[in-house]
Amino acid sequence: MSLDAKIPEGPLAQKWSKHKFDLKLVNPANKRKYDIIVVGTGLAGASAAASLAELGYNVKAFCFQDSPRRAHSIAAQGGINAAKNYQNDGDSVFRLFYDTIKGGDYRAREGNVYRLAEVSVNIIDQCVAQGVPFAREYGGLLDNRSFGGSQVSRTFYARGQTGQQLLLGAYSALNRQIHAGKVKMYTRTEMLDVVTIDGHAKGIVTRNMITGSIDTHAGHAVLLCTGGYSNVFYLSTNAIGSNVTAAWRAHKRGAFFGNPCYTQIHPTCIPVTGDHQSKLTLMSESLRNDGRVWAPKTVEIAEQLRKGTIKADQVKEDDRDYFLERKYPAFGNLVPRDVASRNAKEMVAEGKGVGGSGFAVFLDFADAIKRLGEDTVRAKYGNLFDMYIQITDENPYKQPMRIYPAVHYTMGGLWVDYNLSTTVPGLYALGECNFSDHGANRLGASALMQGLSDGYFVIPFTLGDYLAKLGPKKVDTTHPAFEATKKDVITYINKLLALKGNKTVNEYHRELGHIMWEYCGMARTAEGLTKAKGLIQALKADFWVNAIVTGENEEVNASLERAGRIADFIELGELMVDDALMRNESCGGHFRVESQTPDGEALRDDDNFAFVAAWEFKGENQPEDLHKEQLVFEAVHLSQRNYA
Ligand SMILES: Cc1cc2nc3c(=O)[nH]c(=O)nc-3n(C[C@H](O)[C@H](O)[C@H](O)COP(=O)(O)OP(=O)(O)OC[C@H]3O[C@@H](n4cnc5c(N)ncnc54)[C@H](O)[C@@H]3O)c2cc1C
Repeated sequence: MSLDAKIPEGPLAQKWSKHKFDLKLVNPANKRKYDIIVVGTGLAGASAAASLAELGYNVKAFCFQDSPRRAHSIAAQGGINAAKNYQNDGDSVFRLFYDTIKGGDYRAREGNVYRLAEVSVNIIDQCVAQGVPFAREYGGLLDNRSFGGSQVSRTFYARGQTGQQLLLGAYSALNRQIHAGKVKMYTRTEMLDVVTIDGHAKGIVTRNMITGSIDTHAGHAVLLCTGGYSNVFYLSTNAIGSNVTAAWRAHKRGAFFGNPCYTQIHPTCIPVTGDHQSKLTLMSESLRNDGRVWAPKTVEIAEQLRKGTIKADQVKEDDRDYFLERKYPAFGNLVPRDVASRNAKEMVAEGKGVGGSGFAVFLDFADAIKRLGEDTVRAKYGNLFDMYIQITDENPYKQPMRIYPAVHYTMGGLWVDYNLSTTVPGLYALGECNFSDHGANRLGASALMQGLSDGYFVIPFTLGDYLAKLGPKKVDTTHPAFEATKKDVITYINKLLALKGNKTVNEYHRELGHIMWEYCGMARTAEGLTKAKGLIQALKADFWVNAIVTGENEEVNASLERAGRIADFIELGELMVDDALMRNESCGGHFRVESQTPDGEALRDDDNFAFVAAWEFKGENQPEDLHKEQLVFEAVHLSQRNYA
């Protein structure tokens, strides 16, 4: 099968307008004849479900939490980008496009990214109209701050709770449609498979997480808005429940997986303290607007800090290395995440790490407090500082925060074309679930932008085209494909429930996480990745013999839910390792030790790797097929990223 990204012809700035005009429409009276399934009601799913219902389609929406309000999107702290140029500081749609392409290390599609930058301005208007309380300046205009990888201020925010406020907006719009009877909401319901008929997605199989009932749902199209898979690393900043199951099961039904190894490691997280932890906490990138990152200049001082014989504020100015400001004067502390993360790791490798474990550097607000006053710093970042105090019992108003990189976001995901369609017609992927717009490294505050762009502004157009061509012929669950897929799901659940070994599924998850972090984390080598593949295969074999899954299907059963998700993570882990091994270059968050510049920066190989890797499932325990979507750059010139 050849990959067609369906990027419209014509000048970059006109592609989307032209495409919208070329797409077929479903007339208003016909829309009510179509049933759409939306899996996931975070920012991408809630915005899509609300918009499609508003247009007149009948929507069934699903989430595994007890309310759409609890989607992982609620955790987003720092903000959302938009090229409004409210600051008059030189921003434009083209600059946001350019920053995003460059930030992603030239591994994203120009057409998609330009569209994202273009609709970013509409997102802010939409959210303001919904009542999202973005921070405002004294005169009433919306305020902005800066995020990594850009030299302008274009990030809109609501203190450190931007995701929560945006989700409340999308959730209100969704609720309006639930009330109007246009959306039927299924909470505590987990999608476990996709039903295809003649190669088209026609529905899903779900498990009711309260009763265990296995049900089928039919629709003219299925939208997966099921988030990212950072939890394959066990420890990440994602919500504990975030998982890959929906995307992975769709992959096994024919949806190609795009760039699975592209993972974002966020530089400013609270460091790991030991094996007792089940998740990590992000300290928002917005903090790098005012916080200065440093490590001690010498190993001796670092040692004293580690032992606690001196405190950070006792380290003289001359003994501090503000390494990001030193190495990248043009961007300073606001270099992109991959660059900041690698530099922190380097400091630690040189023996200059701080904190009890030595796996941390400082993020210091002393200068900002001197310059702005503690009250202003509190007003800007108070809830983040409070979170830090609660977790570490240290006061960042007095001593610098200790931070270290952690897994945060996955740029990889289901491969989609310009219309957000996966390789299975009728099956779409939106938000973090797809691989689309961030290349090998996402810029901060661009995930919310992409999820809402996909849901509010892209899918309402592109889905209509598919439906108009398909026609409104009723689909229902009486087709034998539904019963057959349901049977597969029940067989799989019974296989999991039959596991009566002596090792909890959580232990397997933690082991997988260790392997992934060690060999497919911040730095990767061919040797390490080859070793990881063997380790994951052995872990998988062991899982299906020695894991224990307790309880029954017909009850609330966290052990069963988790077992299914972890089995999927193990399989995904192997594909990530294959992808990372195949990509024998460094780009963005994917750092192959074998491929670096003399200064230790990521060294791309554009001649051989300027493509999207799209993997095709070929059967259980079979190697997957690699398809390459060549990336064509017409508007930007590929160059070595330079933030100095
Ligand atoms: C701590 C933190 C802070 C962040 N801050 C920012 C920020 O400031 N700015 C920014 O741009 N980005 C930020 N991000 C990234 C951003 O929050 C996410 O990328 C984005 O919210 C993902 O939205 P989504 O709608 O794609 O998925 P999610 O919000 O993860 O929603 C997934 C939905 O899918 C459902 N689901 C999943 N699987 C199934 C299944 N099998 N069956 C049924 N339902 C299912 C879930 O119930 C949920 O409703 C942050 C991320 C983290 C971890």
